[in-house]
Amino acid sequence: MNDSYDIERAKKLVTIGKTIRLISLLVEVLIIVLYHLEILTSQIAMLLSLALVPWIKHIFALIYPEVASWDEDEHWKTDESKKLWEETHIRIWERWHMLVQVLVMLYLLLTLKIEAQTSQGFKTIAIITVAAFIIMVLIGCIRIKGENKVSQVIHYGMTMLAVIGVTVVTVCYCLSGPEIHEECTYVSGSYEGGNRNHLIPDYYVTVQLKDFTRYKCNVTPRLYDNIRNKNLVVCRRNGPLGIEYLHVHEL
Ligand SMILES: [Zn+2]
Repeated sequence: MNDSYDIERAKKLVTIGKTIRLISLLVEVLIIVLYHLEILTSQIAMLLSLALVPWIKHIFALIYPEVASWDEDEHWKTDESKKLWEETHIRIWERWHMLVQVLVMLYLLLTLKIEAQTSQGFKTIAIITVAAFIIMVLIGCIRIKGENKVSQVIHYGMTMLAVIGVTVVTVCYCLSGPEIHEECTYVSGSYEGGNRNHLIPDYYVTVQLKDFTRYKCNVTPRLYDNIRNKNLVVCRRNGPLGIEYLHVHEL
């Protein structure tokens, strides 16, 4: 990137890329706020947006790999070259940005952990995730260039694993049919964790379904409290490719 035309072009792309990244993050945070204010009422739309919006910046980075940096390595030797490098590159995982994005993903994961519990088809989700991951790593190997390619591809791969995992789980859940509610009977409640290694305990409730089978389900702490006095239902959704989602909530 010695040519002044290349440098100017890279600087413009960096401005566009950083703007896309900032807008994406603001949109993600806004979606969560609107959902909690009940202005955005569709949970499916909220989940799908949170899973898909981060892809915009990742796709931008793959289209313009010459200005994207996936790793944390220092790519300069002098202060002069550091300044030029920073003007002509975007760190995909810049610290403040990474923090907000990880918090948004955590929010999405905690919601999915309760809502998108699979009673059938977990293997299907795992196979789709692995297949999509292999495809995206191949694309990354072709697109990402430069002397530190190996380090870049490793960091890109770790990012993709997390992003693809969350996206596949979310999209499969969002493609599922409407909720079907069935009666169930409370059998027992339990919790796991709640110690130093496990800051937030996982709360479970075991219920008996209409066909007399028992189902152990992860529930929110709010539902777990005083659960014996609550009217519980099993909430079933039929997903694509034989995936079935089952969770327990209040009537
Ligand atoms: Zn329901």
